[in-house]
Amino acid sequence: MRLRRGALTSSLLALAVALHGSVLRGQSIRVTLLGTGGPLASLERFGPSTLIEAGGRTFLIDAGRGALQRLVQAGVPWQDVDGVLLTHLHSDHVVGLPDLWLTGWLVRPGRNRPLTVWGPRGTASMLAHLREAFAFDIQLRQSDDGAAPAGVLVSPVEVSDGVVYEGGGVRITAFSVDHAPVEPAFGYRIDYGGRSVVLSGDTRVSENLIRHAMGVDVLIHEVISAESFIRAGVPEERVRDVVARHVTPEQAGRVFARTRPRLAVYSHIAHSTATDEDLLPGTRREYSGRLAIGADRMTITIGDSIEVKEPGRQAPAGRVAQIDPVAVSPDRFKLLLDNPQVRVVEYVLLPGERDQWHTHPAKVSYVVSGGTLRITTEDGQSFLAEEKRGSATWMDALGRHFAENVGKTPVRIVLVEVKKQE
Ligand SMILES: [Zn+2]
Ligand SMILES: [Zn+2]
Repeated sequence: MRLRRGALTSSLLALAVALHGSVLRGQSIRVTLLGTGGPLASLERFGPSTLIEAGGRTFLIDAGRGALQRLVQAGVPWQDVDGVLLTHLHSDHVVGLPDLWLTGWLVRPGRNRPLTVWGPRGTASMLAHLREAFAFDIQLRQSDDGAAPAGVLVSPVEVSDGVVYEGGGVRITAFSVDHAPVEPAFGYRIDYGGRSVVLSGDTRVSENLIRHAMGVDVLIHEVISAESFIRAGVPEERVRDVVARHVTPEQAGRVFARTRPRLAVYSHIAHSTATDEDLLPGTRREYSGRLAIGADRMTITIGDSIEVKEPGRQAPAGRVAQIDPVAVSPDRFKLLLDNPQVRVVEYVLLPGERDQWHTHPAKVSYVVSGGTLRITTEDGQSFLAEEKRGSATWMDALGRHFAENVGKTPVRIVLVEVKKQE
């Protein structure tokens, strides 16, 4: 296939003009629910952990079981994580931290700068003891495996109510919640470019949370369903105790109704086997606004609109994949041609943006201009699709993958997809 150079140049000019507007409007916070469960070792809901990407910064709120695996699935390099914010020191919220810390240091390209960990009083002591527990490995990885000494350092920051981080236009505020006898326990609010998201951490109904979450764009709240514990055979007395430290669907519904977020989300869903039917009726008695029941790997992009995507429920096998980029606003996505043989779409990814996991059932060509695009496949392979003037590279059917702008300039992608293999 050949592209006429003149046509390409003039459309690039038009693109540059169009982009100017979308860059200004393009500020968004991206939230990925890495783990939406609790202490139970569930394969569907990993331990609590939430990825926040904004202003070129990357943070994890809590690091429960499997946080590192989910981070890899999200296509985010662990060495890019700027820090971890712990809500409290219950083990289900921190057991994934040693893995993220040590594996993220050892396995190339490993972290070569200290990892900042914010958390309640006790965080510094826990980290010092972890370092002691892993002293044998830490020594060997440096002397024997040549891991960078700076990458194993951890900088603990013990937080109290107030702003705990400011940089790149991102502000993170900690606020106390009520998870007694676990004290202190915090929720976090992230503000960036006029967008905001609040994470409750573990809490009972908290007036302090309600104050901090008033009118927020997205409120991610924990929830507990007594019925799901009873079904799982947990003795009633124990269920009463556990439920008393968390928030029921009715209570959460009231919190949502009072704070009026643009989107309410459940994460840290307990018991991990709770169904929509356990959670929805109670919530709906109190709250009629937009609600998403969190699932592992769900992404929420907070911009002018709020987009929710769940990877597991897209691109069923055998169908022509719909390219429906997660972070690409509709004004940067165009369907150029769609006939029984071929589909051609054009979209623009800004630096740091990516589209969602998708497949191409037959031959496909990515024509890339203006930057560097990395394509990552499900088995962890990645390769760069680079600008080629006047010709296009064709690939055979491509399994699940996503494309990501890893450069510093916007990338324009023209995707030519053959629908059927002859
Ligand atoms: Zn918890
Ligand atoms: Zn807890």
